[in-house]
Amino acid sequence: MNNPVDRDAREECESLRGSIRKFLEQEVTPNIDAWRNAGCVARAAWRRAGEMGLLGISTPTEYGGMGGDFRHEAVLIEELGRISFFDFNIPLHNAIVTPYILHYGSEQQKQRWLPQLASGERVSAIAMTEPGTGSDLRAIKTNARRDRNGYRLNGQKTFISNGQLATLIVVAAQTETQAGAKVSLFVMETEKAEGFSRGRNLEKIGAKAQDTSELFFDDVALPPDSLLGEVEGRGFAQMSQQLPQERLLIALQAVVSMEAAIAATLAYTRERKAFGRSILDFQNSRFKMAEIKTTVVVARNFVETCIGKLVRGELDADTAAMAKWWTTERQSEALDACLQLFGGYGYMLEYPIAQMWADARVQRIYGGTTEIMKEIIARNL
Ligand SMILES: Cc1cc2nc3c(=O)[nH]c(=O)nc-3n(C[C@H](O)[C@H](O)[C@H](O)COP(=O)(O)OP(=O)(O)OC[C@H]3O[C@@H](n4cnc5c(N)ncnc54)[C@H](O)[C@@H]3O)c2cc1C
Repeated sequence: MNNPVDRDAREECESLRGSIRKFLEQEVTPNIDAWRNAGCVARAAWRRAGEMGLLGISTPTEYGGMGGDFRHEAVLIEELGRISFFDFNIPLHNAIVTPYILHYGSEQQKQRWLPQLASGERVSAIAMTEPGTGSDLRAIKTNARRDRNGYRLNGQKTFISNGQLATLIVVAAQTETQAGAKVSLFVMETEKAEGFSRGRNLEKIGAKAQDTSELFFDDVALPPDSLLGEVEGRGFAQMSQQLPQERLLIALQAVVSMEAAIAATLAYTRERKAFGRSILDFQNSRFKMAEIKTTVVVARNFVETCIGKLVRGELDADTAAMAKWWTTERQSEALDACLQLFGGYGYMLEYPIAQMWADARVQRIYGGTTEIMKEIIARNL
C-alpha cells in the first residue's frame, strides 16, 4: 500500500480495527461459551454489530453501509481470528451474501435489501448445497416453477450457515429456460414465505456456535421480483463470479487461524516444562514452530497479493482456488502440529488450541473442497 489511496485505506483499516476489537472484547468474548452451548450466536449481538456499522463494511454508503472494500472486511476477519471465533459468521453475511445483491440485484432490490442487511435488521444466508449434491452445483434439484403470481419453490437444502437466524436467504434453484433447466438465484424473505421451514440446527465437530441448518421449501410462493437480477438462468455464472471472493475469505481465515495458533503455542510451550526445560527449548519444538512460521509468512504474502488482485478486479478463479486449497491444507497441518506441542492439554476443549483444531477441519470442505479446487486449477494447466 504505497500510493496515497492505499495509505488512506490502511489508515481507515486501523481505525476500524480499534472499534471492532472493542466490540469483540466487550460484547462477544464474554458470551462465547454460552453461545457454544446454545449452538448459536445471540440475535442481539447481530443487531449490535449492525448498529456499529459492522454488517455493511463494504456496502456502499448510499445503501446504508460504510463504503469500504474487501481490505476492510479483512480487518474484521483478522479480529475474529484473533479471538478464534469465526462462528459469528459476519464475513459470510458481509462478503459472501451481500455482494450477490449488490452485484446482481436491480436498483429496487438493492434499495430494499442492502440497508436491512447493513443495519442488522436481517441476518443473511446463501443456500446452494442440497442433501444429494454439494460439489456438483449444476445437479441441484430444488426448482422454481413459474406461475401466474411469480414462482413456486420446491426442494431442500442442507449445511446452510446462519441457517437458524437468517431471514433473507439467497436460494439456488433450477428454472426452466428455453435452453433447458438452468440455475437461477432467488432472494427469499423468510417471514413472507409460506411453506418454508428450517430443520435442525446441525451438530458439528467444531464451530459449535455457528448455526448450520437444513432448509425445506414446500411449494413456497415467491413474488416475481424475488429473482436476483432480471433474467433467469444466470445463477451458475453469478456463483462462478462470486466464489473467488468466498474462497479468498476462507484462505484469509486459514492464515489468521495459523497466526493465532502460533501465538498460543509459543506462549504455552515457553511456560510448560519437561525434563527441566521449557517445551519450546527442545529442538523438535523449535523446528516445528520454525516450519509453521515459514508456512504462515508464505501464506500471508500470497493471500495479501490475492486481496490486492481482488480489490483491483483481477482475481481469477484459478488463483482463488490455489489460495483456498493450499492455505486450508496448511492450516490443518499447522494446527495439528501445534496441538501436539500442548500434549494432553491440547485435547481438552478448555484450551483454545483444541477448539481451533476442531473448528479448522471444515475449511477444507466448504466453499468448494480441496479436490474441487484442484480440479479448477487442473482444467487450465
Ligand atoms: C459447516 C458447513 C457449513 C456450510 N455452509 C454452507 C452454506 O452456507 N451454503 C451452502 O450452500 N453450502 C454450505 N456448506 C456445504 C459445502 O459447501 C459442501 O459440503 C461442499 O461443497 C462439499 O459438498 P458435499 O458435502 O455435497 O460433498 P460431495 O460433493 O458429496 O463430495 C464428497 C467428496 O467427494 C469429493 N469429490 C466430489 N467431486 C469430485 C471430483 N470431481 N473429483 C474429485 N473429488 C470429488 C469431494 O471433494 C469430497 O471429498 C457448508 C458445509 C459445512 C460442513
